[in-house]
Amino acid sequence: MTWTPQTAEILRAVAAYQLAQEALAAEFAARWAEVLAAVEARELAGALTELETEYAAAIREAAVASRVLSVAFYRLVRALETGRVIGGPGHRPGASLGSLWADFNRATGKRTGTGSREVLPVDTRNPFPAADLAREARRAEEAFRQEVTARVERHERERGRQGSAALGDAELLAREEEFLDALRTGSSGAGGMLAQDGGRNMIHNALQDDPGAIGYYRKTDASPCYFCALMASRGAVYKSRSTAAFGAHPHCHCQAVPIFSRRYQLPSENDQFARMWRTFGGGSLADWRTHYRKTTKT
Ligand SMILES: [Zn+2]
Repeated sequence: MTWTPQTAEILRAVAAYQLAQEALAAEFAARWAEVLAAVEARELAGALTELETEYAAAIREAAVASRVLSVAFYRLVRALETGRVIGGPGHRPGASLGSLWADFNRATGKRTGTGSREVLPVDTRNPFPAADLAREARRAEEAFRQEVTARVERHERERGRQGSAALGDAELLAREEEFLDALRTGSSGAGGMLAQDGGRNMIHNALQDDPGAIGYYRKTDASPCYFCALMASRGAVYKSRSTAAFGAHPHCHCQAVPIFSRRYQLPSENDQFARMWRTFGGGSLADWRTHYRKTTKT
């Protein structure tokens, strides 16, 4: 029996998945901005311990949601592409395209698709790694140290040097505002990356351990940076023992989409970036950045 990959449905799931991951990062950022807004700028230095607890908890909870979402997505795409279900966390006996869509819809909070109740054959393997909570906690700690503690300490030193007479009120206020903006942007970007990494790492690791997976490609957000557009333009990354890490960066909402069949189809943006790359004709990364910015006007 040969299975025909349900391409249109897969692309719909891919788009919904990318948006749902982006929404998790946005929810994290909103929650964290609220925490920050409740503390006066001059009291930040004395509140670092409590802030770190809140920061770590918000990242942890978003990463859990990201993992649940990513497992549901992986399982759905695999079934749409191969007609087979994979085991592991969240797997229920009697799984069908209908039940896999229901799981995915629940995880995204949107009804993106439905499918038949016909029971699918199961590959009982569990390729999904257990979450490395200790490593996640260390990364959150490091992000907080760099993006919050270090910035607050630097700012306190500058404030001390300035004294009170040096600058007018308006200028002082503007500096405080600038400091808070940079703090908020830096820490929410780093935290949002860690939140989405919950799911991104899950998928990246699962496909290494799933004989049914052949590789992955990069699904970008609506306005990716030049680097992510370049990665997306290259299409599929077939898996090998040396498959490099996915390489997301702060404020990046790109996702890894697993591939299970040679008959996969890339989203139209990936083809568009590939055309852009051919028009560019090759050159340094800096040249590509210039070309990309000119072409997309970003
Ligand atoms: Zn990106």
